[in-house]
Amino acid sequence: MTDLPTVIVGAGPAGATLALLLARQGIPVVLIEASTDPARRFRGEALMPHGLAVLEAMGLLPLPRAIPQQPLEGWRFLLDGQELFQLPEPLEGGDGPGCTLISQPALLRHLLALVRRCPRATVLEGQRVQALLWSGDRIAGVRLADGTAMEAQLVVAADGRSSALRQQARLVLHSQAPSFDLLWFQVDADTRSPLEGWFTTAVGQEGLFSAFEGASGGVQIGWVQPPGARNSDRDIDGAGWGRRLAALSPPELAVWWREQSERISTPTRLPVMVGQAERWWRPGLLLLGDAAHPLSPVRAQGLNLALRDAWVAARALIPVLGDGGPAGWEPDAALPRALAWIERQRRPEISGLQERQAAETRRGRLLLEQPLLRRWMRLQGPWLGNLVARRWRHDQTPLRQGLVALPGLPAPAPDGARHDGGAQSEQP
Ligand SMILES: Cc1cc2nc3c(=O)[nH]c(=O)nc-3n(C[C@H](O)[C@H](O)[C@H](O)COP(=O)(O)OP(=O)(O)OC[C@H]3O[C@@H](n4cnc5c(N)ncnc54)[C@H](O)[C@@H]3O)c2cc1C
Repeated sequence: MTDLPTVIVGAGPAGATLALLLARQGIPVVLIEASTDPARRFRGEALMPHGLAVLEAMGLLPLPRAIPQQPLEGWRFLLDGQELFQLPEPLEGGDGPGCTLISQPALLRHLLALVRRCPRATVLEGQRVQALLWSGDRIAGVRLADGTAMEAQLVVAADGRSSALRQQARLVLHSQAPSFDLLWFQVDADTRSPLEGWFTTAVGQEGLFSAFEGASGGVQIGWVQPPGARNSDRDIDGAGWGRRLAALSPPELAVWWREQSERISTPTRLPVMVGQAERWWRPGLLLLGDAAHPLSPVRAQGLNLALRDAWVAARALIPVLGDGGPAGWEPDAALPRALAWIERQRRPEISGLQERQAAETRRGRLLLEQPLLRRWMRLQGPWLGNLVARRWRHDQTPLRQGLVALPGLPAPAPDGARHDGGAQSEQP
């Protein structure tokens, strides 16, 4: 039996929750995070029912009140400033959980505090992993930027979409051609906005944006641009953005955008990256979360799927890493089997949901590029809005319920499960 720790690189949602699940079982874990403050990076904040179900199974719900959180009221779509449809949360009806906004930095701080409380867990913040240590073709640990070498039973690369460890492990990322860039702004409004808790997407002549009231207050805005566009967006000031947002909005919202011009932050350009590593593991190393499969921000999947990855990984790893492994345990055989199982379990859901995100992006693009189609749709009146709303709600099922049954969790709604070609959960 070896007592080497599992080293998890990256304390985003994938790394932090996996560290907690393993550490709670008494498995020695070292969680290494390069930044010192989770709020310093952009972090998504929408939890869908399939992410909430995993948090529940992890025993993390209800979240402490100190973590800013609020249920989303619903989804609203505007065409050239006119409402196409709106649908309240939860989309499924009933009293199940709907989409919930949380402050991801506050959630991560909470998770790290829980990990620190586990006796055999160490959290190193402000420490960057610089290199992998190899023993023949097996990954045997990591080297930190300060030169410290750390041997590991297993290295989990949960270091995000640009994962340096994925590259060092020579695990090739198959990327899809970027379909858009996102300009990300915040409005530090001190009063409620006319969005009133609705996630609002507007498309028209001027462009396409989505906006919602963040869990910690203020309004978050994502403005869609063609990939790599370096047009004059840097030269547009708050008043310019206020005018552009207003041009796509109905009167009350348009007035509000103009009034907020001075509070609109300078945009951050977030190139959207989508893909999957051709393999998610090699002996001694597992890729998890965005490191294995960078996701588009469409319909808020990345945080949720990172949690689902961590849940599945823990189910496979606890039996082989816990208590030094079962009798006669051969780490060289048992660990690779567990890693291969994790990839087999997760790949179908990730591929299926990436396809659905891409389909939604194509529909948005069509509306953006076809003013005559938008005009025709507007002229049809409410019957078309109702029809599109019904179809949209149906298409959202897998993006909210997941595509596969995760071990130890209720199966997704029949509608969501039907799309996956029959992927089933099996034991590791
Ligand atoms: C604009 C935008 C909006 C989004 N909105 C949502 C949303 O509303 N809901 C949702 O579900 N998803 C959303 N996402 C996606 C979501 O934020 C990510 O998919 C999710 O954070 C991935 O989690 P992760 O743990 O895999 O990686 P990350 O959250 O990227 O965490 C990786 C961590 O690794 C650390 N790290 C990197 N390299 C090293 C190193 N060498 N050494 C040590 N540490 C290292 C980083 O500092 C980071 O903390 C959005 C994404 C974008 C771009």
